[in-house]
Amino acid sequence: MKCDSNLYRAAMPSLAVKPRLIRHLFLPPLIIAMMIGLGYIGFWVSEHYGIHSLGENGQRQLELHARAVESEISKYTYLPSLLELETSVSQLLADPTPEHRQTVNDYLEGLNRRSRSRAIYVMDTTGRVMATSNWRDVDSYLGEDLSFRAYFQNAVRGQPGRFYGIGSTNGEPGYYLAHGLEEHGKIIGVAVVKVRLEAMEERWQRARLEAFVSDENGIIILSSDPARRLKSVVPLSEETKEKLARSLQYYWFPLNELQPLAREILSEGVEKLTFPANSELASDDENISYLAQTRPLGDTPWNFTLLTPLQDLRREAINQGILVAVAFALCAFLLIAWNERRKVIATRLAAREALQEANNQLERRITERTTDLRASNERLKGQIRERRLAEETLRRAQDELVQAGKLAAIGQMSTSIAHELNQPLAALRTLSGNTVRFLERGQLDVASTNLKTINELIDRMGRITASLRSFARRGDDKGQACLGKAVDAALQLHGARVENTPLQLHRHFEAVQVQIDQTRLEQILVNLIGNALDAMQAQPQPELWLEGEAFDGKYRLRVRDNGHGIDAEARKHLFEPFFTTKPGEQGLGLGLTLSASLAAATGGHLGVEHPSSGGTAFVLSLPLVSPTPAEPI
Ligand code: ADP
Repeated sequence: MKCDSNLYRAAMPSLAVKPRLIRHLFLPPLIIAMMIGLGYIGFWVSEHYGIHSLGENGQRQLELHARAVESEISKYTYLPSLLELETSVSQLLADPTPEHRQTVNDYLEGLNRRSRSRAIYVMDTTGRVMATSNWRDVDSYLGEDLSFRAYFQNAVRGQPGRFYGIGSTNGEPGYYLAHGLEEHGKIIGVAVVKVRLEAMEERWQRARLEAFVSDENGIIILSSDPARRLKSVVPLSEETKEKLARSLQYYWFPLNELQPLAREILSEGVEKLTFPANSELASDDENISYLAQTRPLGDTPWNFTLLTPLQDLRREAINQGILVAVAFALCAFLLIAWNERRKVIATRLAAREALQEANNQLERRITERTTDLRASNERLKGQIRERRLAEETLRRAQDELVQAGKLAAIGQMSTSIAHELNQPLAALRTLSGNTVRFLERGQLDVASTNLKTINELIDRMGRITASLRSFARRGDDKGQACLGKAVDAALQLHGARVENTPLQLHRHFEAVQVQIDQTRLEQILVNLIGNALDAMQAQPQPELWLEGEAFDGKYRLRVRDNGHGIDAEARKHLFEPFFTTKPGEQGLGLGLTLSASLAAATGGHLGVEHPSSGGTAFVLSLPLVSPTPAEPI
């Protein structure tokens, strides 16, 4: 039984390898690209929401600190207008005597001390300082002409003068609040309070707050970081710079711009500013970004800006981005691993199913074949039974034929046997009568000789009957026979005919043992020699050759005569039963048929040759008992 190789054939290698190769080539770059993409999205979302959250928080801080600035500024607003009520001030402005001046100086000094402002002074309508709280100081404003100051110009026109500037006397920054002093509806002078706002800067620094206040010109006047002070948050044209320089508002300090590397407006009053690494505003080596939230301060043209550093947020967003990328990579890895495992399981299942299917097919085939084999076995058994039956029938028929042949041969030979037995019987009668007479006469020698002859005749008759008995007896298919003995027995059976003819007998064979029953061999040889003798009846010099040779495990005995031979027509029917050319009761046509079947039954063969020199030769082949032939006879 053969297994079907198709069932176990592996998948085509090219088909299995190609998609895997493509996967291996394209999957890693794809995963890396997606990692980068998702990482960036994670970073962006985190930064976006971080800024939003910072913005909300910053808005509260902005409001808080802007209000603090507003209240700091507004608490001095009323102070200059109070001087309007002070009569010594109006007296001084009306009559500027040293006594009046000293009175006002003392008053302003005391007021300044209590209000904790930087300085309080009074100017006449020309802008000259008439009295001041710092009259004792070396750099006192007393007598100075400050008419160029914008706050004076506004106040003298009856408008509130608000001004941040750097003092032209001592170069000290301050917030100036000016008020036009009226008397009877007429401006008689200007009262000014100078306030220092640096305390707010210190407060911001202590609270680690990054903030600044920019004035109406966009110049930073207050800043938690001193480096940003007096920088412009808006671009300044040359013309503006020159105008500001001339006003001495910022003394002689150079006005540079705060130049961010990037400026992104997120919403109204909210910007994202990035300063370069080398900027004096960036604390370390990397670019620094801020969320800048700006709000106008009430009662002033100023703006308050709160800066929230985005470094931590950026770092956090980068971490989030990395986290997203790593999480994606992990998911991708798990997905690939799961997919590979699923494929392995699927392949195993498919292989198991294929194996199961192959097994089922195999079992089906085995069952089919077994059924076929059983059927053919049954058929064979039936055939064997039939053949045995036929063989049995044939054997029985053969035995019957052999027996019939024997009986026929006995019948044929009975005449010559009777003749053969009658002769000695007649001789016995004569000899016994004579012997009686010789005994009566006392001739014992002659009587003794006659009795010896009688004995010999009885022996001869006994041999004849023994041969007949053995010929008629049923034989055995198996057995051993001595060729020499069988030839002798056959010749003895034809003894009378042999002795009555001038037959020349040529014996050239070995005394071998052949595989056939002794009686059957004798029967065959009786037939062959008998036929030869019949054929040579008309031959004046009859000759019979008995020649033997061993060949291929068999012994071949050729029985050749120089008789009349066999004509062409008779040759065709020689071994057919009841074929005979002998006249009347002489032939039955069974001898050759029986002999051939007896030889074949033991694995031998009987054939015929027609020598060119004349006569006929029958060749009897029989299996040898021992492969080595015995001595020649
Ligand atoms: P039967 O001797 O009774 O005729 P056989 O079967 O022995 O039957 O022989 C058949 C015939 O074969 C014989 O009638 C004879 O014509 C022929 N035959 C057999 N042996 C010889 C022989 N040695 N020479 C010539 N003819 C033979």
